[in-house]
Amino acid sequence: MSQPAGLIRALRASAARGEEWLVALDFDGTLAPLRRARSAARLPHTRRLLLQRLGRLPGVRVVIVSGRALHDLRRRCRILGAGLSGEHGMSLTGFGRAWSHPATARLRRESAALAAAAERLTLPMSGVEIERKRTSVAVHWRRSPTVRRDAEPLGRALSGLLPRGWRLAGGKCVWELRPDLARGKGDAILLAQRRLGPEARVLFIGDDETDEEGFRRLGRAAWTVRVGRGETVARWRVKGSPDVDALLAALRAVRAQAGLSPSPSRTRPRSSTRRAPQR
Ligand SMILES: [Mg+2]
Repeated sequence: MSQPAGLIRALRASAARGEEWLVALDFDGTLAPLRRARSAARLPHTRRLLLQRLGRLPGVRVVIVSGRALHDLRRRCRILGAGLSGEHGMSLTGFGRAWSHPATARLRRESAALAAAAERLTLPMSGVEIERKRTSVAVHWRRSPTVRRDAEPLGRALSGLLPRGWRLAGGKCVWELRPDLARGKGDAILLAQRRLGPEARVLFIGDDETDEEGFRRLGRAAWTVRVGRGETVARWRVKGSPDVDALLAALRAVRAQAGLSPSPSRTRPRSSTRRAPQR
């Protein structure tokens, strides 16, 4: 299994400087293998343990960022100590006070109406599944042979339903109806980073279009890794899930090699911010 050598070098140097790491990972397709039925997506137990052990190291925090609703993500992840961000950056837990986008109440009403309209539209299409979330609607077509042949007509029809301030976004076997807030996974990761302390270094690993948005948002200041094929703006690429495991193990090894005795920047309690000096 090949590891992005440049990334490992950067991680070593960072660990030697005692920098804190925020390790952000997408869920479906990155941590959980894609399944025909979305409800069947599971985080493999060994990977859960890897993430848990990584997140327990001094100076390392883990956050899972997904398009799934937060309650769904929480049920599927169950990684002790990890933060969670659902609905493409619209919520964040695990880094101090839980946060959700201020427009959530309004978007909830709009997404309910949109989900009902999408249900009506797709009623005659077998294998299309509507997922209603708090602030968005996902139209999954992995199990529809007709849409799999050509997804564009469905995309155009869904576009016709969009009220002002909403947009259509594509992903792996999904059309997403999302509020046009220019907010995504990258913003949630930056919020988590601010809450840890802005000096924390960000690593983000993802496999899909919304992750690409995140890579762009985070820019060159972050270590970004694309899983699998496809065009990417990420700085590194790994082939698939086994490489993600290898990378997580490498992160842990690098951190352990650098010595686990906390540096001054890592001695403060995890929930606190830079304000309170340690005594
Ligand atoms: Mg994904």
